[in-house]
Amino acid sequence: MFPNNNLKEIYEKYREGRLAHAYLIETNNISKLINDLTKLIKAINCPEEYQEACHNCNLCNLITKNNLPSLITIEPDGTSIKKSQIEELKVSFETKPIYSRFNTYIIKNAEKLNGSSANAMLKFVEEPTDGIIGFFITNNKDVIIPTIKSRCQVLVITYESDNLLDKLNITQEELDNYLKIVKDYLKRIKENKIINHKDTILSKLKERKEVEIMFKIIFEIYYNEFLKEKNKPYNKELSNNNELDIKKEEIIHKLNIIAKFLQDLSYNVNMELLLDKFVIEMRW
Ligand SMILES: [Zn+2]
Repeated sequence: MFPNNNLKEIYEKYREGRLAHAYLIETNNISKLINDLTKLIKAINCPEEYQEACHNCNLCNLITKNNLPSLITIEPDGTSIKKSQIEELKVSFETKPIYSRFNTYIIKNAEKLNGSSANAMLKFVEEPTDGIIGFFITNNKDVIIPTIKSRCQVLVITYESDNLLDKLNITQEELDNYLKIVKDYLKRIKENKIINHKDTILSKLKERKEVEIMFKIIFEIYYNEFLKEKNKPYNKELSNNNELDIKKEEIIHKLNIIAKFLQDLSYNVNMELLLDKFVIEMRW
């Protein structure tokens, strides 16, 4: 019934009467997760013995139509989740649900809770009320406000994907920013310019994880050229349009260098030395 083992486990906990009050789920595909989560929410509320895609009961139908008053999904209003949205949720959940077993809330992009909305949210997770269950959904659990995170059961649910944004777990806007840095960087390497890594990369990308994403993108650019060479479907967005002048006979060699760099990066080595070595090898 559940394509995902983590969600199946939550369902089993429910059967044992040991559901947590709040779950924090990190995922690389929020819409897919919401889809699976909806099945879980049906299963724990369905008055019938829940079957895949239950059409028999009113409750499951209401959930499908997004019309169940005791299931509330909150999404960022503009750039953040506002305190007023949380206040409304609280008022709605003051009464016990009529049709369903639980009052359920889903906070989509929970990293967008700002200081005051997170504070308003805290009461729910600090003094949990029986019959209320919450799901905080995010693509990066590391940026969730610690007071909330520490009171949730934390899960990571990863979906396989060919989509670059899912693979890197970043937004389109972030990808565009990375691509700017990457293209400028590869151009400097190509043109044999002196590269001071403190200025070119390390001033812009503060975390090791960000440097890793940047080099994964470099890998994808070269791999994309490889696909192009082989007349395979490739990603137009990553396509280099000759501005980087990647020589086809060098592609495999460069891919190896980039892969080695990514491997070395996972050890705790000096970043600047590693980057210098990378430039020398790429130019050689
Ligand atoms: Zn049902």
